[in-house]
Amino acid sequence: MTQPPVGPTFRSGVAETANESETEAAGEALGRELRPGDVVLLYGDLGAGKTAFVRGIARGIGANPDDVSSPTFTIVQEYAGPSATLYHVDLYRLEPADIDDLGLEDLVSGEGIVAIEWAERWKGRPDDVTEVWIKDLGEDSRAITIERPR
Ligand code: ADP
Ligand code: MG
Repeated sequence: MTQPPVGPTFRSGVAETANESETEAAGEALGRELRPGDVVLLYGDLGAGKTAFVRGIARGIGANPDDVSSPTFTIVQEYAGPSATLYHVDLYRLEPADIDDLGLEDLVSGEGIVAIEWAERWKGRPDDVTEVWIKDLGEDSRAITIERPR
């Protein structure tokens, strides 16, 4: 993988991954930099690798990544880490009115780390947060663009 130089001074960059575990590793690198209250918005088509990336974030913050999967009936899933809880949100199946009712404003202004898949569906999403775009380049290649807030 071409690794994004995720670190304290990192602002934006693109990585290319060749398989799912490399995408998880990119998420883990970001997860190590995240602090309580941080928000990560994820964009990309179905099957791009957003959930795989969030699994890496869970590992990076020291939470158990094993059960990070696509939320089915639970829209917000919680994974406790040693210094912060990860809230994993997937807006894929939701209508705009349902998204407005989720209370996401409160969630992102709280002390958890929040990762939101299909973030573009939330019209009220904040913009001074970490954003991740994952693009399928064909076969198992993915381009992962990460932008950290200033
Ligand atoms: P999303 O959450 O964006 O819908 P998932 O993470 O659930 O996507 O699934 C990604 C799928 O693509 C998995 O089946 C995974 O094995 C496959 N895949 C193939 N190559 C990659 C890659 N480089 N990174 C992430 N996933 C990959
Ligand atoms: Mg997903």
